[in-house]
Amino acid sequence: MSFASLGLNADILRAIAEEGYTTPTPIQAQAIPAVLQGGDILAGAQTGTGKTAGFTLPLLQKLNASAKTAAGRRPVRALILTPTRELAAQVFESVRTYGKYLPLRSTVVFGGVSINPQMMKLRGGVDILVATPGRLLDLVQQNAVSLKEVEVLVLDEADRMLDMGFIHDIKKVLALLPKQRQNLLFSATFSNEIKELADKLLNKPTLIEVARRNTASERVTQRVHPVDRNRKRELLTYLIKQGDWQQVLIFTRTKHGANKLTEQLSTDGISAAAIHGNKSQGARTKALDDFKRGTIRALVATDIAARGIDIDQLPHVVNYELPNVPEDYVHRIGRTGRAAAEGEAISLVCVDEDKFLRDIEKLIKRDIDKEILAGFEPDPTIKAEPIVLGRSMTIGRNNGGGNNNSTRRPPLGAKPKPKNSGNKGNGNSTSAKTDGVKPTRRSKPQKAVIKIGNK
Ligand code: AMP
Repeated sequence: MSFASLGLNADILRAIAEEGYTTPTPIQAQAIPAVLQGGDILAGAQTGTGKTAGFTLPLLQKLNASAKTAAGRRPVRALILTPTRELAAQVFESVRTYGKYLPLRSTVVFGGVSINPQMMKLRGGVDILVATPGRLLDLVQQNAVSLKEVEVLVLDEADRMLDMGFIHDIKKVLALLPKQRQNLLFSATFSNEIKELADKLLNKPTLIEVARRNTASERVTQRVHPVDRNRKRELLTYLIKQGDWQQVLIFTRTKHGANKLTEQLSTDGISAAAIHGNKSQGARTKALDDFKRGTIRALVATDIAARGIDIDQLPHVVNYELPNVPEDYVHRIGRTGRAAAEGEAISLVCVDEDKFLRDIEKLIKRDIDKEILAGFEPDPTIKAEPIVLGRSMTIGRNNGGGNNNSTRRPPLGAKPKPKNSGNKGNGNSTSAKTDGVKPTRRSKPQKAVIKIGNK
């Protein structure tokens, strides 16, 4: 199948060809004709499947076909909402790249940076607006943008937006849109909350699902190295040096852990930078740029900050610590093996994390190969200890003393939970400070301890 056979116009085909794309990915093959036809879409697609082009290409084509080139202020006709700044920036790059031969204007707005240049850009009029929810609402409040003429709404990574407590912001945005519009909802996973949102938002949607839900990408080789908790750093340094890894994305559970590991790697002679919600937008962008350009070898990230990071052919992802929310494992390893590239995802797992590992294996419905490396054999006398999570991490919703099962999403087809079950975000996410940075499920930040194992 070719892109031309999907009905895309010559200007878009030219831009795609320049990117080196020859064949549409499965999600593109399904989503492009469906979006062009004009109906709503509910797409289950993980990152790395080519989903961004899946919605951007037909969106550009549709807007271009009815381009409003008249002088005067252009109304926003397509709104793309994303959970994080990084993803917003990346989607905007795609819009620009694929639309470079079209007379359409686009911009991106997100929190953590000055609002004034964004207001100026919007005042000039844009056709396509990529935004994180909090900053968008701030801009609406300041009359910098009107959403009254939006024809197409895209919710990208909707599951993560809900995870981050953006449901109230999303509802506020929806209330600002005209009733008559096309809605495209993309989500890697389908919780009851997502299904509820889809039920409210979408009108007889076309269902598109390309990879099995909640299964890790098959192009990614996954492996667990059991190791003692206080030897993880040594093992990581060994793996990087031994394998001569030039580009590795490493996940920690906490921001503090990311900072500490970054320092330790630097001490070990491995150039590294950390990326997490406490870093300024400038620092985050610089770290990502340095990593992409190969100036640094290791990027140490927390889950939320890493959302939306797209690096072509990222060869190595390391879970320095397993995530306590099993779905995050799928998102993490989705950073490698993107598009046609192969990747390797390695998890360093200590005795404290046995339960996390079991939850992950249950979710992805397979056992991950375990390999004990010579010289790093775990000491069987070491007992499991409780895991302390950082201040902004989300764990069980009821209390901090149980396991993390309460954050697990139910399978597709399960009945939605009754409303007011206490599981929603608190919605206080409109400020620029929290925009795209912090999960807001808990009302009060606090340290939480969860016990794993038999201790
Ligand atoms: P996404 O899932 O949208 O984040 O895209 C993942 C990666 O796949 C990006 O780096 C895209 O540039 C790349 N990509 C998207 N569509 C294609 C295609 N048809 N052929 C090759 N690469 C693609």
